[in-house]
Amino acid sequence: MIAKQVQEKLAALFVLNCVLKTLPTAAWPPAAAESSPVVVLDELLRDLGNAEIRTDPDAVSLASTDFGNNVSSPTSRPAAVFYPSCAADIAALVRASSASASPFPVSARGRGHSTHGQAAAPGGVVVDMPSLGRRGAVVDRLAVSVEGRYVDAGGEQVWADVLRAALAHGLAPRSWTDYLHLTVGGTLSNAGISGQAFRHGPQISNVLELDVVTGTGEMVTCSKEKEADLFHAVLGGLGQFGIITRARIPLFPAPARARWVRLIYADAAALTRDQERLIINIDDGNRGGGDLVAGVMDYVEGSVLTDYQGLIGSWRSQPPSASFFTDADAARVAALAEKSGGVLYCLEGALYYGGAGDTSAEDADKGLELLLRELRYARGLAFVQDVSYVEFLDRVHAGELKLRAAGLWDVPHPWLNLFLPRSRILDFAAGVFHGVLRRDDRAAVGPVLVYPMNRAKWDPEMSAVLPFSGGVDEEEVFYTVAVLRSAVADGDLRRMEEQNAAVTRFCDDAGIPYVQYLPYYATQAEWAARHFGPGRWARFVQRKSKYDPKAILSRGQKIFSYPLA
Ligand SMILES: Cc1cc2nc3c(=O)[nH]c(=O)nc-3n(C[C@H](O)[C@H](O)[C@H](O)COP(=O)(O)OP(=O)(O)OC[C@H]3O[C@@H](n4cnc5c(N)ncnc54)[C@H](O)[C@@H]3O)c2cc1C
Repeated sequence: MIAKQVQEKLAALFVLNCVLKTLPTAAWPPAAAESSPVVVLDELLRDLGNAEIRTDPDAVSLASTDFGNNVSSPTSRPAAVFYPSCAADIAALVRASSASASPFPVSARGRGHSTHGQAAAPGGVVVDMPSLGRRGAVVDRLAVSVEGRYVDAGGEQVWADVLRAALAHGLAPRSWTDYLHLTVGGTLSNAGISGQAFRHGPQISNVLELDVVTGTGEMVTCSKEKEADLFHAVLGGLGQFGIITRARIPLFPAPARARWVRLIYADAAALTRDQERLIINIDDGNRGGGDLVAGVMDYVEGSVLTDYQGLIGSWRSQPPSASFFTDADAARVAALAEKSGGVLYCLEGALYYGGAGDTSAEDADKGLELLLRELRYARGLAFVQDVSYVEFLDRVHAGELKLRAAGLWDVPHPWLNLFLPRSRILDFAAGVFHGVLRRDDRAAVGPVLVYPMNRAKWDPEMSAVLPFSGGVDEEEVFYTVAVLRSAVADGDLRRMEEQNAAVTRFCDDAGIPYVQYLPYYATQAEWAARHFGPGRWARFVQRKSKYDPKAILSRGQKIFSYPLA
């Protein structure tokens, strides 16, 4: 009872600074001639105390670029950037667009970590989400309820700050992305995956409640119990149904440290066999399963090693304190690489222990001993580091700082992320890791991840799309392959884009079903046929017409335009 009261109070406090505002309605709709976004926004601002609008080149340029660094074109430029002080400001903006003669695009921009202009609002208004809470906010936008075991996080908050706030109470969320400087709203609009997803599901499977501004400008609180269809639509919904202004994330006792493991494999079959042994039939709390090693690791990923010594190749996961491999280790790995035709694989795992978690250092050591005995990696090529839980989760940030210092962060990133059925992962490895990606070594810069997840941890009611194709639809395990490259030299971008196209062409020719994660397609027909497929497309369209009938939200995704066809 008390917990419920505390929950209600926290939720109320969260929106307190917004609900007191009376939103303008009388001025809408403006006359047709006045319906350009800038004119509409000027009108709007008279009624919104703390919000700001900018149309200057600096603001507009920043809002038309993203981490991909290859989409800046006049067509992706917004007319203006909107800096809201609270969710109600965003709702007023969306209502203004909806009421104008030709509704203009409105896109939430978290940190712009998309790679293909997904957060752009061509000719419309980009909402600078980080300004929520900066401009005159009176309440904490990261409110931890220790009693309720959750954190209420603003959609603009980055996961690194969510972690920090929760850890102050000995708690933490349990599903992460590899990189923590992404916004809560941004990752929940996709899925949010990492090496914990096999056990706990993606981040979208770890949400209790959302506050959303829909495409009609309504502010709705939704959950599995309340407005469930909107809740499911928004999670993995690519920003199409609502702007997430608050997410309630469940918290659990946080471990203190991680034994961080890298095991080298000479072939894909051995790697994937071990990865699957580690993840199959895992339930929360299950550390046994049918196989001795099932569930022993808390985090399971993997990668393809072709340029393991390069700064860019290893940027995403160097421990902050020291290199994972000594020079002597690297020489032994290189020798194996030469014997194996230049391609090796690495299983990356972690066992958490200590802190408020239920695993002791001794338990972690026993688990590690078992893994090193049972798994079929190349003997002698097992590397273990002991780091704090925060160092482990925030490992990519250390790499980011190095790349920034070397001027290699703000370069084009033609990334390609795919979900593939387990039954075809070895065909894919043979054709892509040993084929397409090897044909032009000049385009080999950047990590290539490969790791499995359990379908059962994903909720099919949500909008995120998993690989499907007749008979293999029901496969319990599917793989993610992330080709995360940086174009640093002349011609790299073109070469990498050609290779990405060659990868998907290879899948098509070989009949390997796949869907893109962090997807991008240029036309609605491709979205419908290649990404969603008939049944899921029908549901997506139906939800769009219900929650954003004027196609205002996230037009940078290029899924819908106005009027909705
Ligand atoms: C270095 C790096 C590492 C990454 N690692 C991972 C990883 O390990 N796992 C993983 O799953 N992803 C990963 N990503 C991808 C990341 O999840 C996406 O880029 C995601 O979009 C988050 O970025 P963002 O918060 O900057 O969102 P943006 O790029 O700003 O927005 C992305 C999309 O979401 C919409 N959006 C943004 N905020 C909201 C909101 N509050 N409500 C509704 N819609 C919104 C936008 O309109 C846009 O369509 C990584 C990206 C980078 C650059």
